[in-house]
Amino acid sequence: MRFDLKSFDFVECERAPDALAVAAADRNLSWAQLRAEALAWADAARAHGAAPDVPVAIYGHKQASFFVAMVGALLVGAPFVPVDTIYPPERLRCIVEIVRPAAVFDAAAGRFEPGHGAPLAERGLAYVMFTSGSTGDPKGVQIGRESVGLLGDWMLGSFGLGDAPVFMNQAPFSFDLSMYEVFATLASGGACVLNARELIATPVAWIARLAEQGITVWVSTPSFAHQQLANRDFSPATLPTLRTFLFCGEPLPAALAKKLRQRFPDAAILNTYGPTEATVATTWIQITDAVLARHDPLPVGHAKPDCELLVTDGEICIVGDHVMRGYLNRADLNEQKLFVHADGRRGFRTGDLGQMEEGGLLFCRGRMDDQIKLNGYRIELAEIDEALHGLPGAEGGACAVLRRPDGTAVRLIGFVTGAAVAGEQPAFLDAQALSNWKDLLAQRLPPYMVPSELVACPALPMSNNHKIDRKKLIDIYAGIPA
Ligand code: AMP
Repeated sequence: MRFDLKSFDFVECERAPDALAVAAADRNLSWAQLRAEALAWADAARAHGAAPDVPVAIYGHKQASFFVAMVGALLVGAPFVPVDTIYPPERLRCIVEIVRPAAVFDAAAGRFEPGHGAPLAERGLAYVMFTSGSTGDPKGVQIGRESVGLLGDWMLGSFGLGDAPVFMNQAPFSFDLSMYEVFATLASGGACVLNARELIATPVAWIARLAEQGITVWVSTPSFAHQQLANRDFSPATLPTLRTFLFCGEPLPAALAKKLRQRFPDAAILNTYGPTEATVATTWIQITDAVLARHDPLPVGHAKPDCELLVTDGEICIVGDHVMRGYLNRADLNEQKLFVHADGRRGFRTGDLGQMEEGGLLFCRGRMDDQIKLNGYRIELAEIDEALHGLPGAEGGACAVLRRPDGTAVRLIGFVTGAAVAGEQPAFLDAQALSNWKDLLAQRLPPYMVPSELVACPALPMSNNHKIDRKKLIDIYAGIPA
């Protein structure tokens, strides 16, 4: 059995209905069970006001019911809004206010919390994915049903994943990287192995589970794979069925690709690139030994089928039907970031600096703005600035990023001003104040956006164009006496 991403229904239902579809933290589902549960979920969601174009939010972490709910929403035609529990309840509340869904489905409790339920202006959406926003609130990326159909076609047609692939899913469903596994599992009739944070924290048991499920495709950010290299069980001896590493979301360091080639000589390594705004990814390349011999930094590859890539004034722009329909209720941003290409298709200005070689091989050369990736997580620094500014007693707030010599972001440092907090000289907050303020920030921000250190300073340095001078913040940080 599989789930067709054109008709958005289960097809070939007589074929291997007992095959594994989802292995979750709490239970496993065969394809027949997935179908039965998704149909029942769809009925329950309709009873709570879900309908075509009326969205439903899903809150949870790696439960089988989370997966069921996404499929059920596709059956109804209700755009789903996946929110992982890595986001604090305050952020869920903010998302609900923006989306006004028919209901919030709590995947852990298996319960619908009633909502508002008006249809969205955009019709025929598959999902709305929230990413960090520079105004202080997350922004909702609206992805059409046609776009996920194209994603499925591309993955099955180009990635060489084999019949009935078994995916290692680790990224939370609120990050669009995870939509790779969701839609490729559905389109192929394969299986998705969901791995909860608590399980990953016990590496021996976790890798044993991946081996038992026979994973064939590893999907993660490069950072996450890098963390696994220290584990000896992360090897072909323990994971003999693993054939493909599928990376996206941040630069793939050549050194990491080389180490993986050594440790898993028979596995293919795919580097893919693209923003959430263009349905997971837009370019791909297999990182072979020949590519490694020629390039460092590595290229992000060629455009996927039916997509045109432009590098305009140094900025990568993406054209195709997989480009989002726009940010929800953000006409201002849509005006800046979206355009209509000469062929009439949607175009998106990524904010990534790029360079294209003859033959269309693309290189990504960093960002034009204050968006960063920290351990694979996408962060707008201005969103953290806002949260720091909102701390009690703070009159201003800003953050800066500590980086390795190769440019990789490793840590966030927060800075606050205000008579109540700052003395004459910049100083670290004492342990008690640091802990109190981190708790307050964690009510609003996910843990990966909470700065690891906070500095009180008399004033924030500004650049000539009246923006926070983040380089000078790092100088201030470096100059604080120990
Ligand atoms: P996200 O929307 O979380 O997928 O983040 C998208 C951004 O991550 C892109 O605009 C790039 O800045 C960066 N990115 C994604 N994939 C890659 C890659 N393979 N190489 C370099 N940067 C990447």
